[in-house]
Amino acid sequence: MRSLHSQVSLYIMTVMLVIVLLFSFITNIAINKQFEGYIINQDQVRREKIIDDLQESYNGMTRSLDLDYLHTLGMYSMRDGYFLSVYDSTGKMIWDAETHDMPMCRQIMKDITKRMNRRKHRGGFKTYSYDLMQGSQKIGFVSIKSYGPYFLKENEFQFIDSLNIIFIAIGLISFVASIVTGGILAKKIARPITKTAEITKQISSGDYSIRFEGETKTKELSTLISSINNMAVALDRQEQYRKQLTADIAHELRTPLTAIRSHLEAMAEGLWDATPERLNSCVEEVKRLSSLVVDLDRLAKLEQENVKLNIAAVDLLEITQTVCNNFEKEAHDKDIEISIEGIACNALADKDRITQVITNLLYNAIKYTPKNGHIKIQVKDDGGNGIIVIEDNGIGIHQKDMPYIFERFYRTDQSRNRKTGGAGIGLTIAKSIVEAHKGRITVESTEGKGSCFTVVLPKI
Ligand code: ADP
Repeated sequence: MRSLHSQVSLYIMTVMLVIVLLFSFITNIAINKQFEGYIINQDQVRREKIIDDLQESYNGMTRSLDLDYLHTLGMYSMRDGYFLSVYDSTGKMIWDAETHDMPMCRQIMKDITKRMNRRKHRGGFKTYSYDLMQGSQKIGFVSIKSYGPYFLKENEFQFIDSLNIIFIAIGLISFVASIVTGGILAKKIARPITKTAEITKQISSGDYSIRFEGETKTKELSTLISSINNMAVALDRQEQYRKQLTADIAHELRTPLTAIRSHLEAMAEGLWDATPERLNSCVEEVKRLSSLVVDLDRLAKLEQENVKLNIAAVDLLEITQTVCNNFEKEAHDKDIEISIEGIACNALADKDRITQVITNLLYNAIKYTPKNGHIKIQVKDDGGNGIIVIEDNGIGIHQKDMPYIFERFYRTDQSRNRKTGGAGIGLTIAKSIVEAHKGRITVESTEGKGSCFTVVLPKI
């Protein structure tokens, strides 16, 4: 498998090379075509010039062409590849290149043919006749024989050659430039991806502490990098959490199990009598263990993906009232006054699960509110959401604990809570249920003054 860097540089190099070659090829063809047009035009100009010069050399007095001039013009033209045959008005030949110097004519024709064939411009010598006029009077005619459709002189071929050399040089320079730029660009593109790949590899091998340092200006790469960093943070947290969870469960089980074991051993060895009080104490510990297991089981079910909710229209005020009635005894025992305000608020929700949320919140409110306290419950409807607010004037929560209280097994004061019997799962369960309903749960609290939990549930 090839590396991303080499692949990207190969792509960039190929693309640039194709562009350069295509550009050179098209430019070369276009310039050659233009040059060919220019040469054909020059050929035409040259013929017209010969005709003009011949016409100008006509002497009106002697009614004849200037033979000396004709000779000079004929020789010059012959050297340039134009073989003239000039005739007077009666059709009598006055001057003819081939008659004048046959060997030279043959040599020049041979040279031109050889030159043109060598460059693959195949053609042949053709003769065209033109009338020589003096006003409207015909004074003779000239046959011009030359290589057609066009021919190039040696210096013109040299010009084309140097153009081609320039194109090849440009091509070579562009090729080298495309390798260098391709390499640099590929490095720039591939580096963050390669680094990201290395980081994900390390993450997959269990090193969650690693982070992608440095920046990239590419939007997608920046999103990828921050997603990977966030994933590493989440996995790290998850890993810590997992370790913590095992330790917490072991811790939670150890205390009641040790108590039960020591009690039962003492009774079994006959050191203690199996009195109803002692047996009851064991039963209490077993009950605590059972409720912990029930809570954990409930949480595990909630945390499974696609929690199945039995959605139906429920009245949040009605549920709240029912839960309050269930806590009447506990509230009475602590002389806590519970008030409910609000209007009937229908929402689509799982009745049992929402009952669980309110139960957990109210249970905590009673638990963490001293005697003669007050708990105020409000049920509101903001149009799109049903809102339940449970406010107590109990012990409150310290600011440092606020971010963690919804986490599993988190208790603000371990010893205090163990006495009250909480395992730190109630709020985690409440949060999972609310989030499964696409709602949110928040808390505001001042230590020593009380706490206020707000549950917002979308009505549909
Ligand atoms: P627990 O079973 O310990 O009550 P929870 O998950 O229900 O567990 O609550 C987590 C922690 O949040 C509790 O240990 C307690 O310290 C704090 N807490 C919850 N509700 C209240 C409240 N109404 N007043 C004060 N502290 C609270």
